[in-house]
Amino acid sequence: MNGGTVHVVGAGIAGLSAAVRLADEGCRVEVYESARFAGGRCRSYHDRTLDLRIDNGNHLLLSGNAAALDYLGRIGSGAKLKGPVSAIFDFADLAKGERWRLRPNDGRVPWWLLSAGRRVPGTRLREYLAVLATLRVRASARLRDVMDCSGPLYQRLWRPVLLAGLNNDPPDSSARLAGAILRETLGAGGKACRPLVAIEGLSSTFVEPALAHLSKRGVSVHLGQRLGAVDFEAGRAVALSFGKQQKALAQDDALVLALPPWIAQEILPGLEVPDAFRTILNAHFRIAPSPDQPMILGVVNGLTEWVFAYKDYVSVTISSADRLLCEPRERLAAQIWREVGALCGLGSRLPPWQIINERRATFAAIPDQDAKRPCARTSWRNVVLAGDWTQTGLPATIEGAVRSGYRAASIIMEEREAAHGAITVR
Ligand SMILES: Cc1cc2nc3c(=O)[nH]c(=O)nc-3n(C[C@H](O)[C@H](O)[C@H](O)COP(=O)(O)OP(=O)(O)OC[C@H]3O[C@@H](n4cnc5c(N)ncnc54)[C@H](O)[C@@H]3O)c2cc1C
Repeated sequence: MNGGTVHVVGAGIAGLSAAVRLADEGCRVEVYESARFAGGRCRSYHDRTLDLRIDNGNHLLLSGNAAALDYLGRIGSGAKLKGPVSAIFDFADLAKGERWRLRPNDGRVPWWLLSAGRRVPGTRLREYLAVLATLRVRASARLRDVMDCSGPLYQRLWRPVLLAGLNNDPPDSSARLAGAILRETLGAGGKACRPLVAIEGLSSTFVEPALAHLSKRGVSVHLGQRLGAVDFEAGRAVALSFGKQQKALAQDDALVLALPPWIAQEILPGLEVPDAFRTILNAHFRIAPSPDQPMILGVVNGLTEWVFAYKDYVSVTISSADRLLCEPRERLAAQIWREVGALCGLGSRLPPWQIINERRATFAAIPDQDAKRPCARTSWRNVVLAGDWTQTGLPATIEGAVRSGYRAASIIMEEREAAHGAITVR
């Protein structure tokens, strides 16, 4: 492939997937990352309190996340995602003491809804149809505008699924983004809904194999390099500033900015970006799960929302957790453990714990924030954006981040091919 170097700034999943795609196509690529580690919001670290390597937050993927699975296939770590052989979701209702297992059938025709034993207890077939209203909606519609957000089916299925996928209180969330989740999951049949977890950890599944893959293709990843500014001339980026260091761009170099939105806006003045965010709280407990504990357990009517079982620890996710930021951590840990210890048969004694609040885990999936998401192309000829907050049509997810990275790579490759074609014709 002809063309100069592609400079990818930001080594989160969007930047890494752009770099992997470009390097696989034979482009010269350099990656720059401000942190001392790659992975961004999807990473593992050694936690000193627990003396364990844990993830910054539990990440659930689904078998229908085609771009994410393609990325993992390219870097050789697809087999590291683990999950049941079919779509199975265990749920518990803390208020009613009930448990059930959701088992959508593989195909697109949802015959599982005909079987009361496979549906959510206390729900009727026709109630499920209400969700079809989310599939064709105005961009400005909130979920509450198109669907009744009450009743057992909402509380026991749509709320937990959409709260996890949107990281925002579902009724206020963008109906368009809710519809995208439902279309790509239950709407695509159970074969797209198999839950998958990076059980060995996020970094060893999503990040370290990508760095090894890039290194094999001659790509340098410069850690600890914070992009401070970009110089522009005649409609294109001409130099990058990393502190006191300047890097001049050659005429045919390109730039992928895979940065958080507020940094991208500093670098590209005038760029409109989402500016409201939501926290995700993760509580990790150093205790081995019981052998029969499901890999993930959905919980309703409690503080706990999802329980993940890893080899050496048990971990809880609470989405849209901004309301909990002022709560004393000790109280939260004790309350969450009261729920989890009882649900998972792990006793009442609080094990060593850690609570991590990722304050800007995702942009707020509400209509006016969705409207602020820019597309990948910018008004500068050689600058392309990537990131889960760009206009992917999905909420902020790994799948969206990878799609955005792939999209940025495709734009650069298409432009290079077009330029090459033009030269050949001449
Ligand atoms: C706790 C938590 C739980 C989540 N759960 C799920 C889940 O279950 N399923 C799912 O699909 N998704 C989940 N997500 C979302 C998922 O992690 C993100 O969508 C994805 O990681 C975003 O990747 P990104 O590359 O777009 O952004 P980022 O990861 O934010 O990457 C941006 C990178 O740019 C770097 N950077 C910043 N400033 C500069 C600079 N000036 N110069 C150079 N580099 C810079 C940053 O350090 C970072 O590495 C979760 C996120 C969190 C935080």
